Amino acid sequence: MKEILLLKDGEIVLKGLNRRQFEDVLKRNVKIALKGAGKFEITSAQSTVYVKPLDDDADLDEACDRVSRVFGLASFSRAAVCPEKTLESVCETAPEYLAKQLKAAKTFKVEAKRSDKKFPYKSPEICREAGGAILGKFPHLSVDVHNPDVTVFVEIRDFGAYIHTEAERGAGGIPVGTGGKALVLISGGIDSPVAAYMMAKRGIKLTAVHFASPPYTSPRAEEKVVRLLEKVSRYSGPVKMYTVPFTKLQEKLRDDCPEELFTVIMRRLMIQISERIAADNDCAALITGESLGQVASQTIGALRCTDEAANMLVFRPLIGMDKQEIIDISYKIDTYETSIEPYEDCCTVFTPKHPRTKPVLKYVKQAQEQAGFEELINEALQNLKTTYISY
Ligand code: ATP
Ligand code: MG
Repeated sequence: MKEILLLKDGEIVLKGLNRRQFEDVLKRNVKIALKGAGKFEITSAQSTVYVKPLDDDADLDEACDRVSRVFGLASFSRAAVCPEKTLESVCETAPEYLAKQLKAAKTFKVEAKRSDKKFPYKSPEICREAGGAILGKFPHLSVDVHNPDVTVFVEIRDFGAYIHTEAERGAGGIPVGTGGKALVLISGGIDSPVAAYMMAKRGIKLTAVHFASPPYTSPRAEEKVVRLLEKVSRYSGPVKMYTVPFTKLQEKLRDDCPEELFTVIMRRLMIQISERIAADNDCAALITGESLGQVASQTIGALRCTDEAANMLVFRPLIGMDKQEIIDISYKIDTYETSIEPYEDCCTVFTPKHPRTKPVLKYVKQAQEQAGFEELINEALQNLKTTYISY
């Protein structure tokens, strides 16, 4: 029996005039997500993206798993394609395709949707006929329209008639790429991959930057960040990552700045360097995994000092979240186990015993200016490494 995936648009339906553009991006993202799951034809009509397998190698289980992470979809169903767009064909296909579920159920109902108004039967007639055919094959069943064990959906659309059960919930959000581009500061921790995921969900195409301080941080720490971004890319699509050689800057910071301001100045340097990379990559904003009050560098005072270094919008999608709420999302997107692997991040190198929780901006800027980082920043920017990451 021929099957197809029907993907229903989510929020993009709200976008009125831009609708076409949104659907084109959504289709492209579905195509990218399905790379490696076989050959599919992807088309769209009537707020639905159709994913049709083109040969026997096309893996529909894998395809379902992959589309479940594509942003911009409210729901999706795996459906049987009726051999013909006729009521008889519907009545034959429905009991056959859903035999397993119907056998195991006690009650069922049929719901028909007829978006092709030229189809000669109205929805109530389709329900009645299909329901009758199902009862004929499975006489143990009874109809329950309020709380059935199985709902059989019949969709009569322009290009065919389809049968499926309850749709699965899609990833929601907005198609990646329709919300512009931003640069995410990614560490090996729990928070920044979650922040990246959350902004991708709002349609942002991601580029990433990671600060590495070898030999204080190991190559394995960087490799861990790549693996985290691989997980994120299952939602966001491919990500280009820049690795910034941060060692000399951190050493200078240790040698030439007051110890208790180490962290806040380091964060300012990260922002300033990131901003330059963002500008070169058409990114209109930065993204961090900061959450208010989580550590000394994330008090209002410290964030104010970090933020002042930025001339660009900085998204902090986790700002109001508890650690446990962030962890829950990291489980969901499957980054948690990787994040807790114990490799040193540059943030944990040379950390002061008593960082200022209320740094005074004036003194922070003074200390940073006195040390003078401009030359080393330029040097770091000339020695960026790029890695292309996809799932
Ligand atoms: P995370 O779990 O994301 O590491 P965190 O709770 O450890 O966050 P910090 O170490 O203060 O918090 O870092 C705050 C944010 O700064 C991170 O979420 C990330 O966006 C950015 N950041 C920290 N370290 C790095 C790094 N080595 N490279 C790039 N960005 C970093
Ligand atoms: Mg960290």
